[in-house]
Amino acid sequence: MIRYEETLYRPPSEAHSLILQATLGCSYNECAFCGMYRNKRFRVRPLAELLDEIETVRRSGLAPHVRKVFLADGDALVAKASFLAKLLDALADAFPALRQVSCYASPQSLAVRSVEEMRDLRERGLTLYYLGVESGHDAVLEALRKGVDADEMVRVAGKATEAGVRLSTMILLGAGGRELSLEHAKASADVINRMQPRFVSTLVMTPVEGTPLFERDRRGEVDHLDVFELARELRAFIEGLELEGSIFRSNHASNRIALAGTLPKDKARLLAALG
Ligand code: SF4
Repeated sequence: MIRYEETLYRPPSEAHSLILQATLGCSYNECAFCGMYRNKRFRVRPLAELLDEIETVRRSGLAPHVRKVFLADGDALVAKASFLAKLLDALADAFPALRQVSCYASPQSLAVRSVEEMRDLRERGLTLYYLGVESGHDAVLEALRKGVDADEMVRVAGKATEAGVRLSTMILLGAGGRELSLEHAKASADVINRMQPRFVSTLVMTPVEGTPLFERDRRGEVDHLDVFELARELRAFIEGLELEGSIFRSNHASNRIALAGTLPKDKARLLAALG
């Protein structure tokens, strides 16, 4: 049986994946807008428990159907490379149809792992990281308490790319408020251009109870951009993108505007949809 410690989060595109909680919580857990793991103490789960869970799924008869695995929780990449290597080998042995293992990667966990470790883990199956970039604007990153500036975000993302790992990046619309809306959009396009990730998506920043952002919102310090302001920001972001082959999506539940396409091919269509 797989034991999940709630609350369990996964990217929307991992809806049909087998989810394994390699770690619990987030080792960083400081981002001002993120309430996902506020109530969890970070820890790496015992390897033996995870191997038991893999064996249970293998024996259940579902093994031939496991094509994708997502390693939860917040930043499984921060666990020791030797631990992750054993876990990935067990997954590859148990599931012959497995074609992708992915995890969230915080900038802090990307800083910890070496390119060689990431390359070795990629060869063992960990081929995709979800990276919350949130913004390319230093003042916005600081307000969000991401713990890195734009240059550091680009540097650590570059390590993953050098290791041959694909990146799925997220930008938080509205994170700069009204005053920095367009600057946030342009700076975010700039960092994404420097990263050239395989996937780019946007979410709309929403204050979640229990977070510093929620407290700021209660004090009336957070702008809530309306749909026109968000469309203008998204337009400026897409306009600034110069990508060589990325899939773009803004169709998460938090987005008031659903758009999807491949860049650069669909850039004109996406911009036209935003007026
Ligand atoms: S690194 Fe990710 S999971 Fe951790 S607090 Fe920040 S947004 Fe949340």
